[in-house]
Amino acid sequence: MRAPRPNELRDAWAGELTAARAGEPVRVAGWVHRRRDHGGLIFVDLRDRSGLVQLVFHPESAPDAHAAAERLRPEHVVSAAGKVVLREAGNVNPHMATGEIEIDVTDVEALAESATPPFPVDEDGPVDETLRLRHRVLDLRRQGMHGAVVLRHQVIRAMRDYLNAHDFLDIETPILTRSTPEGARDFLVPSRMNQGSFYALPQSPQLFKQLLMMAGFERYYQIARCFRDEDLRADRQPEFTQLDIEMSFIAEDDLIDVIEGLLARVFEETGFPLTQPPPWPRLTYDEAMLRYGSDKPDVRFGLDLQDLGDALAGTEFKVFAGVLAGGGVVRGLNAGAREVPRSELDALTEHVRRFGAGGLVWAFVQDDGTWRSPTAKFLTDAQRDEVTRRLSGTPGDLLLIVADKEMVAATALGELRLELARRFDLIPPGRHDAVWVVDFPMFEWSETDGRWTAVHHPFTAPTGDFADPAAMRSRGYDIALDGVEIGGGSIRISRPEVQQQVFNLLGISEAEAEARFGFLLDALRYGAPPHGGIAFGIDRVVAVIAGRESIRDVMAFPKTASGWDPLTGAPAPVDDAQLTELGLRVTVPVTR
Ligand code: ASP
Repeated sequence: MRAPRPNELRDAWAGELTAARAGEPVRVAGWVHRRRDHGGLIFVDLRDRSGLVQLVFHPESAPDAHAAAERLRPEHVVSAAGKVVLREAGNVNPHMATGEIEIDVTDVEALAESATPPFPVDEDGPVDETLRLRHRVLDLRRQGMHGAVVLRHQVIRAMRDYLNAHDFLDIETPILTRSTPEGARDFLVPSRMNQGSFYALPQSPQLFKQLLMMAGFERYYQIARCFRDEDLRADRQPEFTQLDIEMSFIAEDDLIDVIEGLLARVFEETGFPLTQPPPWPRLTYDEAMLRYGSDKPDVRFGLDLQDLGDALAGTEFKVFAGVLAGGGVVRGLNAGAREVPRSELDALTEHVRRFGAGGLVWAFVQDDGTWRSPTAKFLTDAQRDEVTRRLSGTPGDLLLIVADKEMVAATALGELRLELARRFDLIPPGRHDAVWVVDFPMFEWSETDGRWTAVHHPFTAPTGDFADPAAMRSRGYDIALDGVEIGGGSIRISRPEVQQQVFNLLGISEAEAEARFGFLLDALRYGAPPHGGIAFGIDRVVAVIAGRESIRDVMAFPKTASGWDPLTGAPAPVDDAQLTELGLRVTVPVTR
């Protein structure tokens, strides 16, 4: 860090004092990280943003400072002045950046006291998350969280630097707006001046960034807050941050090129060791689902899925025959040579059931090529051998097979693959892989709604024939890093009649389209350039780089999984007077 402007509180950063400063007078300021009273000498590790430095208080040479130090407790705030001195050889702490020196304190000023913290701040041990969120200020002082917030800044700075250098313009878009369909529920904000009407918080700046392309800005980015009212899972938050990007007069390769440069820069600046430099592999959606059972494949380990349908054609085994006759699939994977007890096979079966599969067929390949498996007796030798061959099975290998509707079998096996990697530690340490997934289906039939829905969003450019929506593909692309979807985008529709066709197929009538998206259709009618873009979940990118499971650990002030903020107590009921002003009445019991 740049040296602080000297004032009465400090003239140096604690964490940056080295042996080169020995003999110099310095003044540092910060928090009491730890205090050790050795009967005579008192040692205090002082913490500021830059790190730690050891202060020493001598009872004889500095009796006032020593007396003051006796009253110091963890998290008190102090300013201390003294001389930088070299530690004796035996006292050098190689684990501390400033471990070669200490400050011989002559003057200390207590600036604030601290109540006893509800959990230790000087260590990163596990603490109940609600307690951490409730006392987020203290939690953020802890080294792990502090580091994550700093890392987040470095990631965003690298993104900005790269995009600024590539002629992108940083343009803000509204927070109070109308619904942008990204597939989630909107958060609504009631309007006082137009009672009965509501703003929607943006699920993304999607439509605005497209309008900016139509307005001629060519290259846009924004670190944008997005709001989606979804049931939360581990990697979701009701508000999250995207790096949002849009470009004009481009096709897929142009965008992918820029983005690979951008991410390579982010990884380089944060010291994240990606195993392969760009260009990164591109898998089609179909390949990804077939081989990995996921549209965000983790390609750091094997265990590829194989289709076994042909091998089992004509089987009399009822489970397989029924599924195949009903248009389903039989797929499997080779879990490798492992001793897996019955209880663990049951747990794996339970795992695929959680993802909708009816069951899991397991088989151990024996030395003579036969199977040890409850299913063995239902297959002919030829079928069994062919399945073993397809799965490259050798003696000792455990083969795992699922028969179900295609999507169910793919997803269940994809999840099983991840579970096996976790259980058997199959991910090589230090390996990190990015992969693009392209050629997504454009539409998906929703059984619940009885209509087509857009797989990406309705502004994504389609390819194929509207007469056969199931076969249509989109010009969308996603990028997965270590099996986490970190970004996604598409080339957009730039012709109004195509946009209208997509709306029609989604069951949005012309009148409704005009009412909801008239501004977009209108802009499309005045000459829209070919354009496309992408958005990255910054929280996820930072979490992967930081090696954190939860995006809450890389956000300064996140909410719990139930959307609650233990720090501020949001969401909270409001006064009747506020409701009246808004023309609203609450008709349900207040739940929080
Ligand atoms: N708006 C999209 C999203 O939030 C990203 C994009 O298409 O650029 O997922």
